[in-house]
Amino acid sequence: MRDFDNNDGHMIFGGMRAETIADRFGTPVYVTDENLVRENYRKIYNAFSRHMDTVIHYACKANTSLAILRILEQEGSCIDAVSIGEVLTCMKAGFQPARILYTGTSVSSSELKMVSDLNVPINIDSVSELERLAKMRTDIPISVRITPGIGSGHCDKVITGSEGSKFGIPMDAAVRTYGRALELGFKPVGIHAHIGSGGYTAEPFIETVSILADLTNQIKDEHGLDLKTINMGGGFKVPYKPNEPEMDIGEIADAVTDIILNETSVKTIALEPGRYIVCDTTLLLTRCNDVKRSGTKNYIGVDAGFNTLIRPAFYDSYHHVAISNKFNKACEGKYDIVGPICETGDFLARDRVLPVPEEGDVIAVYNAGAYAFSMSSTYNSRPLCKEVLVKDGNAELIRESENIEDLWRHQIIPKRLL
Ligand SMILES: *Cc1c(COP(=O)(O)O)cnc(C)c1O
Repeated sequence: MRDFDNNDGHMIFGGMRAETIADRFGTPVYVTDENLVRENYRKIYNAFSRHMDTVIHYACKANTSLAILRILEQEGSCIDAVSIGEVLTCMKAGFQPARILYTGTSVSSSELKMVSDLNVPINIDSVSELERLAKMRTDIPISVRITPGIGSGHCDKVITGSEGSKFGIPMDAAVRTYGRALELGFKPVGIHAHIGSGGYTAEPFIETVSILADLTNQIKDEHGLDLKTINMGGGFKVPYKPNEPEMDIGEIADAVTDIILNETSVKTIALEPGRYIVCDTTLLLTRCNDVKRSGTKNYIGVDAGFNTLIRPAFYDSYHHVAISNKFNKACEGKYDIVGPICETGDFLARDRVLPVPEEGDVIAVYNAGAYAFSMSSTYNSRPLCKEVLVKDGNAELIRESENIEDLWRHQIIPKRLL
């Protein structure tokens, strides 16, 4: 897990005291260090590109903030988008349509029409989608998402590649789906699988790429089609706990590029990291409102709940926490960190050993860059919070918080009720 410098008991993030950022912008606030986004992107790109031509499709559902998309656009990234909304957001951030790959599931014909009208390459999720797209146009690049029968992920909710999954086309129907695509007039350029999110070991990735390599060769034998790209999806794990080992991205890159280079004539590997690029670049800063003892429990009540960060409540995810203004104080007790949402399931962290907390302390929640702001909600009528970007000691607002009027904006009270 990435940790941060300690300056005389104060946590330093992006060259600033975390506390200063909280004081200046208010809490709760998500704070991203631009240098870390660039560092993570380069690390994963370099691991693969030293072996073969590599295209990174940043899976933007992890974090769709325009400023962060701009950083990745500058780095040369491409995009994995799962909705028309993500496609339009990435175009707004400056990505040309050809740099976006749309991978929908349960795709409506109207969305398919909008995406294809924008000339965005499409990764086909079902035969139904293929047939419907063929009636619109066949002159855009397509690939096919395969379900390889391998699942990997940090919990059941995020495994996508197992047999019987709702995602993609079953392995045994893959070759004939390419045949059908050719019959309809498409010229498919790639093959794709994404098996889940948060996998740690190299094996599931190696197995997946082996299957895609085999299928690529069968497609060539049966249909004479040379695919240009094998896309191994995303799902690279990031450590969330202090002593958890880091995944060896180099080992995965070495193994999968070796398979592609030795077993196929494919020249390009694509991958779709989301979490890996943004997760540990961001802290959620939240202020202690309230300290309470109840039964055997000690509670720290903060101003961010599952409206702001849903992962602990939704997936039982572990996020490391620290009191940023007591960064070198001894830990004295065990605390649950809970939010302002009126549900017992509203917690950010449980049973954490921390220094004695006081009202006003600034709690830093680690690894809050992926599936964090992008999954936040306005439940309990709490407007969405701010986002800040820091770089070398400078902090800039990249998203204003919503206000209560934003929550009313699209509602209509019928006249007869007035
Ligand atoms: C969500 C998703 C990813 C990214 O998963 P991470 O675990 O964030 O790397 C990649 N590809 C597709 C198709 C996805 O839906």
